[in-house]
Amino acid sequence: MLEKVLIANRGEIALRILRACKELGIKTVAVHSKADADLMHVRLADETVCIGPNNVLESYLNIPAIISAAEVTDSVAIHPGYGFLAENADFAEQVERSGFSFIGPSPEVIRLMGDKVSAIRAMKQAGVPTVPGSDGPLTDDHKHTLEIARRIGYPVIIKASGGGGGRGMRVVHREQGLLNAIGVTRAEAGAAFNNDVVYLEKFLETPRHVEVQVLSDGQGNAIHLGDRDCSLQRRHQKVIEEAPAPGIPEEVRQRVFKACTDACVDLGYKGAGTFEFLYQDGEFYFIEMNTRIQVEHPVSEEISGFDIIKEQLRIANGEPLSVKQEDITFSGHAIECRINAEDAKTFMPSPGKITQLHMPGGNGVRVDSHIYQGYSVPPYYDSMIGKLITWGPTRDVAMTRMRNALDELIIEGIRTNIPLHKELVRDAKFMKGGVNIHYLTKKLEQDY
Ligand code: ADP
Repeated sequence: MLEKVLIANRGEIALRILRACKELGIKTVAVHSKADADLMHVRLADETVCIGPNNVLESYLNIPAIISAAEVTDSVAIHPGYGFLAENADFAEQVERSGFSFIGPSPEVIRLMGDKVSAIRAMKQAGVPTVPGSDGPLTDDHKHTLEIARRIGYPVIIKASGGGGGRGMRVVHREQGLLNAIGVTRAEAGAAFNNDVVYLEKFLETPRHVEVQVLSDGQGNAIHLGDRDCSLQRRHQKVIEEAPAPGIPEEVRQRVFKACTDACVDLGYKGAGTFEFLYQDGEFYFIEMNTRIQVEHPVSEEISGFDIIKEQLRIANGEPLSVKQEDITFSGHAIECRINAEDAKTFMPSPGKITQLHMPGGNGVRVDSHIYQGYSVPPYYDSMIGKLITWGPTRDVAMTRMRNALDELIIEGIRTNIPLHKELVRDAKFMKGGVNIHYLTKKLEQDY
């Protein structure tokens, strides 16, 4: 097995990776910024290195500092977690060039999938269904662009090929606005992503966000761990996720699962990944692939009983997948609430010291969190302080357990979004299942 792994991340995911390493007998190195010396995984790691000041550019995004830390600690591999450098192909390349294993796919595959136009092209070739669109970058040929949009049918969405995090997109409802909107999106994309390539897609009006978790060993084997519904979003940020996605016909799901695993084999994909789709009127449409572990991976682990991070570590060690698809059995339903240090109504971040903490427990309750009583949430990073996950033999039981767990969860000293979650798990439409990606935004507009 890998001897020593450097965890190039912070917070709950760093702790999650540390736990998986410990289970496999792997030594751990925690790297952290000045403000993060008190993080739980820093306390539990075999070795720790302070890689820089609080500013992420000088710490968690500081590639030379992270690679030096790997060198001085004799680490053999680097786990990037999610966010920060997790989908940075240059980082993956430098890690490998410095003689360490990058726990994730090859720099080439990260680059291919990080560019949306090339990702869509690769998916289409592999037989994954995509959104009707321009099938490539828009050119200066305005007449041709107008023809493409007419063929797709309005409304259309202009998207930046290098975009991410919900930025670099613009919806156009009528032909009159199209060319101007393309110009503006192109200029913004050039400034924000250093890449002014834009393309067109049909804008789907009431889609759900459904994604497929995959694992592949780069040796010709790939499995899926089913789907997740992450439609409950605010500003393109997921709030609650669940697995499996409710109410999707089995035959449709199996078809998309097979397309995803076939695509992994085609790509020579190595590691864990997620194919993100919009799902509307019984059809799946690929929008992007994330080449890393995702925040919401625990719901897939809960319904499959399979540890995704341990498998990432085995794959990085050069091992073939430890299971075959037929070894995976799915059972029950899982829900995850992202707990953020923010006001539940205004969504303003609320850093500060946690003065009282009581975590819920009991059958089917899992908490993935780095916080503890007396811990101070720093103001410099993402406001997510943990994830509450419940499992039940049915969706109803998982939902009831989530209501109970949220009622038991007490975090004092800072404000959190727990009140919002308590309301959402009692919302009649969400409880029924299958709300679309606009549901939460509309609900918040009406309620507040
Ligand atoms: P990013 O990389 O910025 O997350 P995505 O391509 O994943 O960009 O799209 C982000 C979100 O934008 C989707 O989850 C969905 O809410 C919306 N979106 C993207 N493409 C479309 C589309 N063709 N129709 C409707 N909504 C879309």
